[in-house]
Amino acid sequence: MTLDLVATSTPRFARVVLPIPVDQPFTYEIPDALAGRVFVGCRVDVPFGKRAMSGIVVALADEADVPRIRPIRELQETYLPATLLELARWIASYYGCSIGEAVQAVLPPSLRRTKVTAKPTGIASVSNPELRRGGEGSEAYATAQRTLARARRQLALLTELLSADGEAPVPVILGEWGYAREILDGLVGRGMLRIDAAAPSSPLDALETRVEQLTGAQSSTLATVVDALRAREFRPILIHGVTGSGKTEVYLRAARHVLDEGGGCIVLVPEIGLLPQATARYRRVFGDLVAIIHSRLTGPERFEIWERIVRGENRVVVGPRSAVFSPVRDLRLIIVDEEQDESYKQDDKPRYHARSVALVRGRNEKLAVLLGSATPSAESLRHAREKKYQLARMPERVSGGAMPEIELVDMREPAARGTILSPRLVERLDETIRSGKQSIVFLNKRGHARYVQCSACGWLAMCKNCDVSLTFHRVGDRLKCHLCGYERASPAQCDTCASRQLRYAGTGTQRVELELKALLPGVAVLRMDADTTAGKDGHRRILEDFSTGQYPILLGTQMVTKGHHFPGVELVGVVSAEDGLNFPDFRSAERTFQQLTQVAGRSGRGGPLGGVIIQSYCPDHPVFRYLQSHDYDAFMTEELEVRRTLNYPPFARIVMASCSAVSAAVLNAFMEEWAAASRQLLADRRIVVLGPTAPLIPRVKNRYREQMLLKGPIGQADKDAVLGAYRRIMEKRKGTRAIELRWDVDPESFL
Ligand code: ADP
Ligand code: ZN
Ligand code: ZN
Repeated sequence: MTLDLVATSTPRFARVVLPIPVDQPFTYEIPDALAGRVFVGCRVDVPFGKRAMSGIVVALADEADVPRIRPIRELQETYLPATLLELARWIASYYGCSIGEAVQAVLPPSLRRTKVTAKPTGIASVSNPELRRGGEGSEAYATAQRTLARARRQLALLTELLSADGEAPVPVILGEWGYAREILDGLVGRGMLRIDAAAPSSPLDALETRVEQLTGAQSSTLATVVDALRAREFRPILIHGVTGSGKTEVYLRAARHVLDEGGGCIVLVPEIGLLPQATARYRRVFGDLVAIIHSRLTGPERFEIWERIVRGENRVVVGPRSAVFSPVRDLRLIIVDEEQDESYKQDDKPRYHARSVALVRGRNEKLAVLLGSATPSAESLRHAREKKYQLARMPERVSGGAMPEIELVDMREPAARGTILSPRLVERLDETIRSGKQSIVFLNKRGHARYVQCSACGWLAMCKNCDVSLTFHRVGDRLKCHLCGYERASPAQCDTCASRQLRYAGTGTQRVELELKALLPGVAVLRMDADTTAGKDGHRRILEDFSTGQYPILLGTQMVTKGHHFPGVELVGVVSAEDGLNFPDFRSAERTFQQLTQVAGRSGRGGPLGGVIIQSYCPDHPVFRYLQSHDYDAFMTEELEVRRTLNYPPFARIVMASCSAVSAAVLNAFMEEWAAASRQLLADRRIVVLGPTAPLIPRVKNRYREQMLLKGPIGQADKDAVLGAYRRIMEKRKGTRAIELRWDVDPESFL
């Protein structure tokens, strides 16, 4: 196969990869009308069977390799630059999918011409100078709170604007912030906001005036980055900086340095990091040069951004994992903020990890790659300790403030035993409320909440399609399956023995909410969990409501641990801290530490009440000890030792192959054969093949599941061999088509 980027003669045929799980490209004829205009990387529409598909040209040819060739139907405007095609090839081979499937993740959705609607314009700013200056602490704000008591969205927008220094472009408010036009117009109608057509003062000036002088740690970190940029070679750098140490400031300045030199930059943030406060900061510094990609964008909007990036109009791209594929002109730097975040791993094919892709892209294109975190992943920390990455430390908060004090409550003590909220936590919550400050109560829950069990015979209410217990929902008195959505009314008696002694066990957010309301009567609690955040904006809305200061307590699951910075929060309470620790995953200690650090970081800057209370049944666990001393390094030293001993990542690689089928017998026979074949193929390598075994949840949506785990120094050839065996066995057992494979390289989840 030839891979000429530039056609010398005018080739008559193009080899095209399609978004199907077939690795071979298909040959199509280039019609006369397109002669000379088709090149490698072009996106074309082609007939495939009876359908039309859009694919990518990966090679040109003068001869056809098969008889009966059909012509390309249409040539699209978007194309895949050579560097991104190379990246797609790497993804395909490393993560085990076809190039066509990898390309799908890289390019924005394929589109015909779209209607371009007139864009809203202007800058909205807070009219009252006193309010603008004084912000949320001012008298004027208290007045506004009263005026807008019945207009919560308007108050949320006003508060958001104040946190963004009192002004923001109208397109940002309606776009990234997600406010409806009526909300904005409402505030303008009340005279509280003004919309001006004028351009804002140079966005770059803002940076200088806001942060006058970098701290020592910031300057030396920035110098390391600038050095790496000057070298114009692949240089990975890990910034290990506590929350509030000023990492984002370093990102902004590094990106600006790149722009000043005429280059471009990508900043990856977890989806949750795209909340208003963060986006406003990038907007303020980079104005129209920045493209912000987020999940609420429609297909046409994504497409338009892609085109603007290609044209060089947007030179900084901020976005979640897919932003790593942005076709930024003269790319010099990729920043991965919160590099340990699980959301960088894509759950569907291709199951890539954006941090790994960023590093590979960095190597291919000779870039500086900056990974930043308060709690770096074991993988990155190990590379830094082995000097494969440069390590920059920022151990102190910019404010000079101390890290929040962490207090452990032993739930086995008599006073706490049997309670959901210990007397100590309730006491502290009460104090915090009285002082007019806010608290966050974090329920460290993974997996399933309240279940219904018969006290007489032990019967457990289960889903009829999946092997999981049903979760009790007080609203509507229903039992629901969190996997497939099956629901039924709560039983009045046991399904098996008809006893009426049913037990509602486990702790869910709804239960904690009731408890809070009972122990702290009259206190408004804002609950954030999967139920209250349904819908596109649910999550953001709750955070916005909380930021207005009207709710003393925010209660929720993982979702409350990241994102917004709430100045009013003085206390964080963690309920059932060990739930995460007991989770069957080799990363459970690491994740628990990271999560608790995140949530602790929400607590005030060490005011008299500032603090974190962790309730635990095993307060002696090392995770809590290191957490209390804020010593992530020591924790990781111990954790890495455990990983090395047990041969887990980052000292080994893991591939998880899970298959599902309707028939348990067919599935098991297949998996046994595949595992045996894999063991034979890998006999000389130090790779173990575990399984096949049933996963934690052996049946989902009426399909049985079995998994096989490969663990060890797995190389490309090993993966190819095992996948080859899979295809051979499938081929041999024709009719076994009903088996579905999920091939997950470097899995982040083992459910
Ligand atoms: P991180 O990303 O590490 O959590 P940020 O960059 O968001 O930290 O900084 C935390 C806060 O400190 C922000 O409000 C930021 O504007 C401010 N800040 C950062 N650097 C400085 C500095 N050198 N001087 C004063 N304030 C700073
Ligand atoms: Zn029973
Ligand atoms: Zn189910």
